[in-house]
Amino acid sequence: MAFTFGSGSGVYSLGPCGESHCSNCNAVRPFDMLFYYEYWTLNYLGMIRRKYYCKHCQTCGIGTVLADEDVDPYFKPIRFPFRLQYGWVIWLVVIVACSLLVAYIQAIKPR
Ligand SMILES: [Zn+2]
Repeated sequence: MAFTFGSGSGVYSLGPCGESHCSNCNAVRPFDMLFYYEYWTLNYLGMIRRKYYCKHCQTCGIGTVLADEDVDPYFKPIRFPFRLQYGWVIWLVVIVACSLLVAYIQAIKPR
């Protein structure tokens, strides 16, 4: 069995999140909320390793990373593809099942 390791990233645009002062434009500008995530994969089954929200100025594109508790709950429900969010659980089940099978074979093997 061949193993393929990988990594990647993605971004969701969550829409406008109001106006505030942009330090780059030095003016009040409309901002968009974006959600970034990074993941690792092993044979396409993955694990989310980092995720964060970011506010981007619509005019200049400069963004500010936000702490999770500073994000409006309206933007919170994010759904990842199942294979990326819970792929590590499938690998864990496979490893435990293989270990139990090997232990069982060792136990019933005639001596
Ligand atoms: Zn700006």
